[in-house]
Amino acid sequence: MAIATAPADIEKLVKPGKLFIDGEFVDAESGETFETINPATGEVLTRVAHAGKADIDKAVRAARRAFESGPYAKMSARDRAGLLRKLAELIMDNHDELARLESLDNGKPIADSHTRDIPRAAQTLVYFAGWADKIEGSVIPVSGPFFNYTRREPVGVVGQIIPWNFPMVMLAKLAPAIACGCTVILKPAEQTPLTALRFAELCVEAGVPPGVINICPGYGETAGAALTEHPGVDKIAFTGEWKTGQIIMRACAGNLKRLSLELGGKSPNIVLDDADLASAVQGASRAAFYNAGQVCIAGTRLLVQKGIHKEFVQELTRTAESIKVGDPLDESTRQGPQISEEQFEKVLSYIEIGKSENAELACGGERVGDRGYFVQPTIFDNVDNAMRIAQEEIFGPVLATIEVKDVEEAIRIGNDTMYGLAAAVWTKDIAKAHRVAHGLRAGTVWINTYGVLEPGTPFGGYKFSGFGREGGKQVLDMYTETKSVWVNLA
Ligand code: ADP
Repeated sequence: MAIATAPADIEKLVKPGKLFIDGEFVDAESGETFETINPATGEVLTRVAHAGKADIDKAVRAARRAFESGPYAKMSARDRAGLLRKLAELIMDNHDELARLESLDNGKPIADSHTRDIPRAAQTLVYFAGWADKIEGSVIPVSGPFFNYTRREPVGVVGQIIPWNFPMVMLAKLAPAIACGCTVILKPAEQTPLTALRFAELCVEAGVPPGVINICPGYGETAGAALTEHPGVDKIAFTGEWKTGQIIMRACAGNLKRLSLELGGKSPNIVLDDADLASAVQGASRAAFYNAGQVCIAGTRLLVQKGIHKEFVQELTRTAESIKVGDPLDESTRQGPQISEEQFEKVLSYIEIGKSENAELACGGERVGDRGYFVQPTIFDNVDNAMRIAQEEIFGPVLATIEVKDVEEAIRIGNDTMYGLAAAVWTKDIAKAHRVAHGLRAGTVWINTYGVLEPGTPFGGYKFSGFGREGGKQVLDMYTETKSVWVNLA
């Protein structure tokens, strides 16, 4: 397999990273830095300043100042929208560079960075720019000589902690915060700080006032913990694992921070006997293997009805075996490496667990190449839903196939999970489709498709997949407080 070599302009592309606090690029107070690795090779790309407690404190103070005084505090909603639109424009002006940086740091195929991640980040900013001057209060009919109205006020200083699987798409979660008039301290994942730091330069270019957007890379246990514990932070928006979500909930208790959690999943992808097989096979492959399976909404439990089970798995295996795994910077690559050695080892260990649980390995199961963190698209068949490979989030290209006898069993097994982020059903029967969609306890259900998301649609989880809805107008509730104002007209 062709493994990534460093591009000729790597020095220009990958600079040593500093923290972005109060509009300036600064070293960590401690002088500490950490490595960011190219997952296609295992080599160090560069070193980035590591935000410690003192740096987070500095960023929170800057964000508070920017929120309470200075140009941003007085800025009209329309001008905040203008800032978001300008940032989106700059993202698209630098689209090629950001896409390459994303693929180098994260390992995702350059074709995906180009056509999905980078444009999607820009679209999210544009979408929320549209909301900024439409966040309205209301007038409530009350008794007596009184007049009552509500104001939607920004929740304040927001800490956003994001994961490494879609760094730029996740970073765009700051858009609703800015649309609502909040200020932000964003902590990118330690594995993928580079595009966030390039975005910080775009903030300077766009004229974002100092302190409004601060970017503080660092490890979760240090930088992340300092942010979640800081009494000057009003709200935390976290995306990551449920176990980390629990730690963060506890940390937020200190000053009763507002909190939203977008966590993991083990999403059921249900294929009924009457489904259009060709599109369901393509959909099941995309659901399980897109982004090397490192997707919170991945359709990792494939529930296939008995009548088509055998044929379906055969077709899906053929499709999985044709996925081109390799150099993320090659335009024809469809699957890159896992993000890190740790994730790579975890995925391989789950494949061993699947074998030891006596699931049937239909394809894959091996590492690809001898360098970097590549894993073959892997399908287990004849899985029992109680097995660990059907219950635990693997976050790699590993699919568990489970046979179901009818719609009722599909719904029951579909819901037999701690998670509730997403699900899908494939069928030509409209009544069955909606019955399944309504019966599944998941925040998003697709019918005859998989993985479609837009910034305008609410997105979030039931159960251990978290709470709060991102996307659409629902997210505005997470970044505003509603104030009720009473006037005595007598
Ligand atoms: P993943 O397995 O996707 O890395 P994590 O939940 O570990 O999921 O990480 C998601 C984000 O949460 C990352 O930015 C990480 O640094 C951060 N994080 C991890 N542990 C903590 C913690 N104790 N407090 C705050 N943030 C954390």
